[in-house]
Amino acid sequence: MTLTDDAIKAAVEAGYAAALKASGGANADYIPYLAKVPSTLCAVCAVTPDGKVFAAGDSTYGFAFESISKIVTMALAMEQSGAEAVRSKIGARPTGLPFNSVMALELHGDAPLSPLVNAGAIASASLVKAKDVEDRWNQILAFQSKFAGSAVSLSAEVNQSEQTTNLHNRAIAWLLASAGNTFCDPMEALDVYTRQCSTLVTCVQLATVAATLANRGVNPITKERVVSAENVGHILAEMTMEGLYDASGDWAYEVGLPGKSGVGGGILSVAPGRLGIAAFAPPLDEVGNSVRAQAALTLISQQLGLNLYAA
Ligand code: GLU
Repeated sequence: MTLTDDAIKAAVEAGYAAALKASGGANADYIPYLAKVPSTLCAVCAVTPDGKVFAAGDSTYGFAFESISKIVTMALAMEQSGAEAVRSKIGARPTGLPFNSVMALELHGDAPLSPLVNAGAIASASLVKAKDVEDRWNQILAFQSKFAGSAVSLSAEVNQSEQTTNLHNRAIAWLLASAGNTFCDPMEALDVYTRQCSTLVTCVQLATVAATLANRGVNPITKERVVSAENVGHILAEMTMEGLYDASGDWAYEVGLPGKSGVGGGILSVAPGRLGIAAFAPPLDEVGNSVRAQAALTLISQQLGLNLYAA
């Protein structure tokens, strides 16, 4: 069924209202910057495969990309080395444990299992073909902008906040390296991974990333091909497995769309061929997903009949 502009507009507005009604949760505070972001910020956006944008709330506020950046770096590694390399070197499995779990590594011989947990994302960053650290970083940053449809840039403040507190991720990088699961210097991979989490994106840019995937890899705003149509299927499969942390199964149950969440408060979801949707609000639930963004995207999926598993 084709989605009309009126239906999308109404769903975005209803999703925004549902988000504002949802309460509870707290800003992430293990990264000092995130604890200071105003908790009342809230935005919802949908972008169609032909480039129409429907937004509500604080949709031009730039927030930390965080874990959602993992799909961009994974996609770049897939484009360069093939999806099979990403699957065999990193994996396509849920860990069943928190996104920064050391136990998940220990239980699996220090294999990361998924490019969408911290260990696998550090491994993805290391898999990008680059001649040095700045080349690796510049390629990832350029790919973020290509996905987002407009320039994405590093926040020096977020980066400083993350680089000075990422000791746990540092341990993860060394554990990966100890088992041969990093493909460049592990501290270079960690540095670049930390920077990729520290860029700022708006909710409109986040929905454009989702819409690029919904549009079989062509950015609907710039009309540029970002990833191959074949890799889109693999990216969405990875998102289904681990995109919403430990709640990925519940997300599949209730929303029925591949998604990816970040501790900055953003979540995006992809309705293949139909719509890219995103929401942002800082307070997170106990597994790390934005309470309000979940409420918005759940409502939009239901109202527009986007659930891929519904008969
Ligand atoms: N930069 C964050 C970290 O490495 C990202 C985590 C997330 O958004 O899931 O812990």
